[in-house]
Amino acid sequence: MIDYGDSPARSAELLRMVVPRLAQLRLPLDPVNYALWYEYYLGRNDMLNARLDEIAEGKVPYSQGLAVKLFYDYILNAGPERVDRVGAEVRSLLSELMTLFRETRGNIDRQTEQLEESSRSLEAAAESTEITDLVARIVAQTREIVAANREFNARLNESTAEANRLREDLERIRAEAATDPLTGVANRKTFDEALEAALAESEVSGDEVSLLMVDVDFFKKINDEHGHLVGDKVLKFLAATLRQTVKGKDLVARYGGEEFAIILKGTRCEDAVVVAESIRQAVESAKLKRTGTDEELGRVTVSVGVGSSRHFRSPDGLIGAADQALYVSKRNGRNRVTASCQD
Ligand code: GH3
Ligand code: MG
Ligand code: MG
Repeated sequence: MIDYGDSPARSAELLRMVVPRLAQLRLPLDPVNYALWYEYYLGRNDMLNARLDEIAEGKVPYSQGLAVKLFYDYILNAGPERVDRVGAEVRSLLSELMTLFRETRGNIDRQTEQLEESSRSLEAAAESTEITDLVARIVAQTREIVAANREFNARLNESTAEANRLREDLERIRAEAATDPLTGVANRKTFDEALEAALAESEVSGDEVSLLMVDVDFFKKINDEHGHLVGDKVLKFLAATLRQTVKGKDLVARYGGEEFAIILKGTRCEDAVVVAESIRQAVESAKLKRTGTDEELGRVTVSVGVGSSRHFRSPDGLIGAADQALYVSKRNGRNRVTASCQD
């Protein structure tokens, strides 16, 4: 099956189909149209192809707005895994487009030079009206080419600006897809992928991976007493505290409602317990006040469970171990750290 990871040769083959088709349909040669018709010739997106056929047959009037909508509906929003591929693809498409533009411009420049040169030599030899007419024609052609050259430059600039916008959009979408909107830390999907990758890496390197599960104590009570919005703010505060307490390479994620998970790569279980304890203390010692009032929220505490790859090498096994340790922290009175390093 053909995928976006196409070889340069295959991409070039598609380029040769897409560009003339766009020209034939008199559609602007911009990144959005390019991506749409590239997808068209890949021929694996039936719904998109049906829509593009309608445009090509003139059944639906073409507009830039429609092109952008199709791009969003059928390519960008077709699934997050698509976004990554489109990102890489759009980048390579654009560099191909740039090359195309540059080559075309180079041709025009050469043509222009030739024309100017022949017109100079013709002028030097001009005696008859025939030659003068010829000169006039050549000069007119030259002017046209110079104008076309300007047009190409303008399109190149437009295309570059559009490419930058598209790239920024894709980067933003990708970042949003990886993040929990409330707290700004990694979401569950990112966590799952990161844990799997960390464990696979540790199989090779032999480095230990530790996992912390952090759950707010009596969070339901905070919600009940102060309202859900205050509860949300507590979650934001917690996420920020967790991020401040761990190192940059550690991944903090929102695992579920009021439960956070932290992956500590290259960290022995015993050292992870020290990190867990510093998190527990940082949360316990913070004085939370309601915004706008001096009303104290009372002490917010967390219970933590620690697991390590020393004994649990699969994501599920490691999560289960950390969860089990968390459960023991809860059972033993909360606001404490439990580790299953030794079992
Ligand atoms: P425990 O000490 O045993 O963990 O008690 P708890 O009250 O924290 O545990 P429980 O699981 O009973 O309650 C968790 C609560 O978290 C229930 C749910 O309404 C709340 N919650 C989950 N997600 C959110 C959220 O995004 N915002 C707010 N404000 N509350 C949430
Ligand atoms: Mg809780
Ligand atoms: Mg919970």
